[in-house]
Amino acid sequence: MTTERKSWQRCDACGAEFDERDASPRCRECGGLLAIVHTPPVGTPTELRARFGTADNRHSSGVWRFGEIVLPTATATAVTHPEGNTPLLSRPAISAWADIDSLLLKHEGHNPTGSFKDRGMTVGVTQAARIGARAVACASTGNTSASLASYAAQAGLPALVFVPEGQIAIGKLTQSLAYGARTLLVPGDFDACLRLVEEASDALGIYLLNSINPFRLEGQKTIVLEMLMQLDWTVPDWVVFPAGNLGNTSAFGKALAEAHAWGLISRLPRLAAIQAEGASPFARAFARGFDHLEPMAAETVATAIKIGAPASYERGVRAIRATDGVVCSVTDAEILEAKAVIDRAGVGCEPASAATVAGVRKLREQGVIRPGDQVVGVLTGHVLKDSGVLKLMHQEMEPPPAWANRPIRITPDIDAVRRVLDASADGK
Ligand SMILES: *Cc1c(COP(=O)(O)O)cnc(C)c1O
Repeated sequence: MTTERKSWQRCDACGAEFDERDASPRCRECGGLLAIVHTPPVGTPTELRARFGTADNRHSSGVWRFGEIVLPTATATAVTHPEGNTPLLSRPAISAWADIDSLLLKHEGHNPTGSFKDRGMTVGVTQAARIGARAVACASTGNTSASLASYAAQAGLPALVFVPEGQIAIGKLTQSLAYGARTLLVPGDFDACLRLVEEASDALGIYLLNSINPFRLEGQKTIVLEMLMQLDWTVPDWVVFPAGNLGNTSAFGKALAEAHAWGLISRLPRLAAIQAEGASPFARAFARGFDHLEPMAAETVATAIKIGAPASYERGVRAIRATDGVVCSVTDAEILEAKAVIDRAGVGCEPASAATVAGVRKLREQGVIRPGDQVVGVLTGHVLKDSGVLKLMHQEMEPPPAWANRPIRITPDIDAVRRVLDASADGK
């Protein structure tokens, strides 16, 4: 019996095609990265949008409401928390700091394990379960492992996570432990973990769920699709986000190319990928006209983007080029200042996410983003992911930065409380 195929895998590098259910993490012909290709969805753009629903008419999962352009054959068997349906926030204090009239923040920290990784993992683990994987694995700067651990637990699949010892935030490490993943502490950096897990998955037949996994990218596309839906399918001028391994850069580029090809949007927003200066091989390559990638030893307070050799470099380049996008870097000091502003507005996010807002401000200073531009920034992770950096910012940094909010030791009497209250009223 022949049935019309809906989706399949295609090598980005050589064009070889593979079945949708092929478990190989890379092209079997040339080792290139794989992408999912879908037959165009049926119906006019208006019909499609109506099937997706609206931001008000809440589908339980913000990923699977787009199932027919994410993984159509698996929507009925999805391993879902659910996830997505994250808010688009507007906070004047944050826009003012970034010197921009209209800054909307898509807060992916509202996902079930506290980062956007859940959008990719619901699709990746669904795929692992339906092809009968015996176990799943990833290398991680923390959030991927927390998310994998959670979804694997739900699917009843053993999970192995490889993390760089001593280099990931405590909230993320303990999440992986709590959800029951075998958590392997590897001496070395993230890039070393990635090499090891690729070798292990090859030798031991474990399904690999790193961000090169094309099914994860399909899920992460929905950050952009859901954002467009929340804007009634009007297109902002810019989408700004932090960039490490360039999974999101690639996923956003694919989401926009498809949405454009299928008539859901009539023009493309420009992508702005923001890196930490100490982990900025993509920004440096951009400044050289994307001549080539020069890996670097990564160092930054924003551990989620502390990556020196991004795995999805080629795809990232294509996404930036296709959207007339830009890549820039911000210092750790700028990241922490932006984070203090975001936290203080009551929104909160982890350090890597704050790179987004620091990046908007930098691109404003450089005149790349104009004051009246419509900008959507993505906050990728929750404030509690990195309590270590909060302790540093508010209790440990010397001299205390302007935004440090030191806890106040008092004697247990009402006068002491009154003095604190009076001082607060005086703005001290
Ligand atoms: C994974 C992650 C990133 C980086 O995303 P890439 O797709 O690797 O570029 C940024 N912020 C947070 C919070 C993350 O967990």
